[in-house]
Amino acid sequence: MPGTLAHERPILTQFKELGLSESILRAVEREDYSTPTPIQEQAIPVLLTGRDLVGLAQTGTGKTAAFTLPTLQMIEGLQGPPHPKTCRALIVAPTRELVAQIVQSVRTYSRFTKLSVTSVVGGVRPGPQIKALSRGVDVLVATPGRLLDHMATGALTLRDVRTVVLDEADQMMDMGFIPAIRKIMRALPENRQTLLFSATMPKEVRALAADFLHDPEEISVARVGKPVEAINHKVIHVPGAEKRAVVADLLKAEDVGQAIVFTRTKRGADRVCEYLEKAGLRAGALHGNKSQGQRDRTLGGFRNGKLKILVATDIAARGIDVDDVSHVINYELPNVPESYVHRIGRTARAGKGGIAIALCDRGEVGLLRDIEKLIKADIPAEGEVPEGVPARASRPRNGNGPVRARRRPNGNGAPKQGRPAGGRPNGERSNGSRPDGGQPRNGKPGGNGQRQSKQGGNGQRRRRPQQQGAAAG
Ligand code: AMP
Repeated sequence: MPGTLAHERPILTQFKELGLSESILRAVEREDYSTPTPIQEQAIPVLLTGRDLVGLAQTGTGKTAAFTLPTLQMIEGLQGPPHPKTCRALIVAPTRELVAQIVQSVRTYSRFTKLSVTSVVGGVRPGPQIKALSRGVDVLVATPGRLLDHMATGALTLRDVRTVVLDEADQMMDMGFIPAIRKIMRALPENRQTLLFSATMPKEVRALAADFLHDPEEISVARVGKPVEAINHKVIHVPGAEKRAVVADLLKAEDVGQAIVFTRTKRGADRVCEYLEKAGLRAGALHGNKSQGQRDRTLGGFRNGKLKILVATDIAARGIDVDDVSHVINYELPNVPESYVHRIGRTARAGKGGIAIALCDRGEVGLLRDIEKLIKADIPAEGEVPEGVPARASRPRNGNGPVRARRRPNGNGAPKQGRPAGGRPNGERSNGSRPDGGQPRNGKPGGNGQRQSKQGGNGQRRRRPQQQGAAAG
């Protein structure tokens, strides 16, 4: 819980005290949110005054409601319906999955208003989107590429936008979208409110904020480099060739509700998925090479619980918020250590606990050490660390009391699939993602709730540009 807010405002603890209108409060009540999360508590009163905002926050902190609730309230106060081919609020997000998730939230929070919501994303026919835009919409949620397409063909003009939200700005940067974002920002009217949310604040994102935001309030609830306490994580040292069998055994043996298995490449995701299905498990693969229809079906099946296991690459899985994920399996360790924290944050959501298991072969031990350095803790290990791999730096043990791995005796069964530590195999890059401190719904979604004026300072190891358009439109 934050100590003081900007300008010594008193701490507001109830949604009612945030200045929200009746229709919005009813929707919040319907969701059973008892108290605002730190970012909601801090951002909503500021946004209701019309100020610009930079929010350093990640998925799981309740940031979607933080920007959506005041935005809906602002639009509700406007006269008449939107003009044809315009929107009044624009939310830009990097991936189609994130857009779908935001649209769902906007629909939830606007259920007691008459406001219209629509989305434009790539990978699907533009016709229905053009039709929806032709009537004019109150809230438009979009990926940058398809948004620019509609602007170019005249299906949409941004001249009536009162509030624009750039969500997950650092991921948009990773995906090479900054030029597109700048183009979008230049097409907006001068007189508007601008909100920028980012999990980290690399210099390109800071420059974006400096160029397009006016005297923004800065709020941070990011917990940088710290995994969610509710997650019980461990690493299993295993040769790459044995990983598929190990993951199938784990998923069968463990008390798994739903699980996400992260692979580094799209082909890897397909292969692991096929193997799991052959092993009798209900699995679906989600990555940027799948068609939009396939992606919607897979994610839909996972959300409604019909699909027990999702095998995904980082790019498709980022920002996904499914409450019942009990296990995250890192089939391969990510190249970017922050991605590990982000991946494991897909579990332990909604106040529940979670288990994260990483499979680590000889070539990945360097990546494991990078992750342990980032999270400042040893990950409890099972299996034998192969001879000759980098040792752990000595550091205090974390609360989990890590089990130190035994070393493989000399010359005994060298792993088959060695790679240089820290090396990247073929195919998809891991995205430069970041920690997720989320424990949403009826608890406090993650974040330490501290208001800071500047960035949290992680994300230095991010690699970019990300594979463009793999998951976005
Ligand atoms: P977000 O960070 O916006 O992706 O939100 C993550 C999760 O937190 C979503 O499942 C929301 O429904 C939930 N959530 C948002 N605000 C609150 C709140 N005040 N209390 C409990 N859960 C919340």
